[in-house]
Amino acid sequence: MLKKKNLILNISLVAGLGLLSSVPPVQAASLNDMEIQKQQIQQKRSTINSGINDSYTKIKDLQGKQQTVAEKIKNLSDLITKTTSQINDKTKEIDETKAEIEKLKQEIIVIQDRMAKREALLKERARAMQESGGNADYLEVLLGSKSFGDFIERVGAVATIMDADQEILRQQEADKKQLEENQKSVETKLANLQTMLTDLQNMKNKQNQQVAELGELMKQLKQKEDDEHEHAMNLKEQEDLLAAQQQSVQQAINLEKTRQAELAAARQRAAEEARQRAAAEAKERAAAAAAAKAKAAQPHKSQPAQLHKSQAAASTETHSSSSYTPEPRQSAPAVSSGSFTRPAAGYISSGFGARWGENHPGVDIAGSGYVPIVAAADGVVSRSYLSSTYGNVVFISHSINGQVYTTVYAHMSQRLATTGQVVAKGQQIGVMGSTGESTGQHLHFELHRGEWNYAKSNAINPVGIVPL
Ligand SMILES: [Zn+2]
Repeated sequence: MLKKKNLILNISLVAGLGLLSSVPPVQAASLNDMEIQKQQIQQKRSTINSGINDSYTKIKDLQGKQQTVAEKIKNLSDLITKTTSQINDKTKEIDETKAEIEKLKQEIIVIQDRMAKREALLKERARAMQESGGNADYLEVLLGSKSFGDFIERVGAVATIMDADQEILRQQEADKKQLEENQKSVETKLANLQTMLTDLQNMKNKQNQQVAELGELMKQLKQKEDDEHEHAMNLKEQEDLLAAQQQSVQQAINLEKTRQAELAAARQRAAEEARQRAAAEAKERAAAAAAAKAKAAQPHKSQPAQLHKSQAAASTETHSSSSYTPEPRQSAPAVSSGSFTRPAAGYISSGFGARWGENHPGVDIAGSGYVPIVAAADGVVSRSYLSSTYGNVVFISHSINGQVYTTVYAHMSQRLATTGQVVAKGQQIGVMGSTGESTGQHLHFELHRGEWNYAKSNAINPVGIVPL
C-alpha cells in the first residue's frame, strides 16, 4: 500500500514538474466566461443587498408600529389610572351614603320609640280618666283603633286630650314620614352609585384587556423585528461570502491572465513538500529495511552491520517516539495529474446526497491521527475562518478551463491557509479535525460548480470529478 502510494507520488511529481513547463495559453473565451460569472455574482450581490435594504425597511416599519403601540399603551395606562381613581371616589361615596342610610334608620327608630312612649302615656291617661268615672265610650273608641293614625283620629274626634298632645303626635308622625322619604331617596342614590361603580369597573376591565392585547401585539412585533434582524444578518453573511468570492474570482482571472509567479511558486512549494514527504518515507523504508537486515546479519560482520545498526537505532527511535503520540502522522494523498486531486487520505464515511432525511451537500472523508488536508486544485482562498457550523473552514475559488468552482474544507483542527492566498493543487491548507457541528474526526468536503451560496444550490457530487 505504502509502495504503491509512493509510486503514484513519484509519477505525480513528474507530472507536477511537467505542468510548470507546459502552461496552457490563456483562452479568451474562458476569460470571458469568468467575467460573466463575476457579473453573475455581482447580480446576486445586488439581489441580496436589496434584500438587506428591504429587511431594514421592514425593521424600521416594525419599530414605528411598536412606537405607536407603546403610545397607545401609555394613553390607556393613564386612562386606567383615571378610572381607578374614579372607582375609589365612587367607593368612598357609596360608603358615605351607606353610613347616611344607617344614620337615618337610627333616627327613625328613635322617633318610633318616642311615638310609642307618647302613645302609652295617652293610653295611661285614658285609663286614669275611666277609673275616675269618665266616659266609657271614650275608652272603647281609643282601644278599638286599628292603626296609629286611626287612633289619633279617634283621639282627635273624642277631643278629650289636650291639643298640645295631638300636635306633638302629628309632628312626630310628619318627622317620621320625612325620615322615611329621606331614606328612600338616599337608597335611590346608593343604587345609582352602585350602578356607576359597576360601569367603572367594567370600563377598567375593558381597558386592562386592551392593554393586555396591545402587550401581546407588542410582543409579536418585537418577535418579528428579531426575526427580521436575523434574516438581515443571514443575508449579510451571504453577501460577505459572495463579496469575498467575487474578489477571489477576480484574482483567479488576474492569475489566468498573467500566469503569476505566485502560482508557480506555490506549485513549486507543493512539489517540494511532496518531494520531502517522499524522501522522508523513502528514508523510513530504508531504515526499516536496514533494521531487518541487521537483525538477520551475523554479529561479527563488522563495519557495514554497525552502520546498519546505528541506522536501525535511529529508525527505532523515530518509530518509538511516534508511538508515544497515540495518533500516527499520515501523509497527504498522492497528487493526481488532472485538474483535481484528492483533498485528504482516509475513507469515505458519508457520500453526497440524501442522508438521514437531509441533503448532504458534500462528501465526508474520515481518518485518524494527523491527516493533512490539501487544496483539491489550484486556486485562491476566498475565505478562511472559524464558523459555528463548519468549524475551521477554508473556501477556495478555482478557475478551471473558464469554469469557476468552489471547494469547501470543513471541521479542520487547524487552518494553514489565509483568505486571499494563492494555493496550488496538493498544497496543504489544514489538518483534519472535528471542529464546528461535527461528530468525530473527518473532512467535510464540498464541491460547487460556480460560487458557494447559502442554499448550497451549486453543490455537485465530487465523485467522478475529484479522484476520491
Ligand atoms: Zn459532511
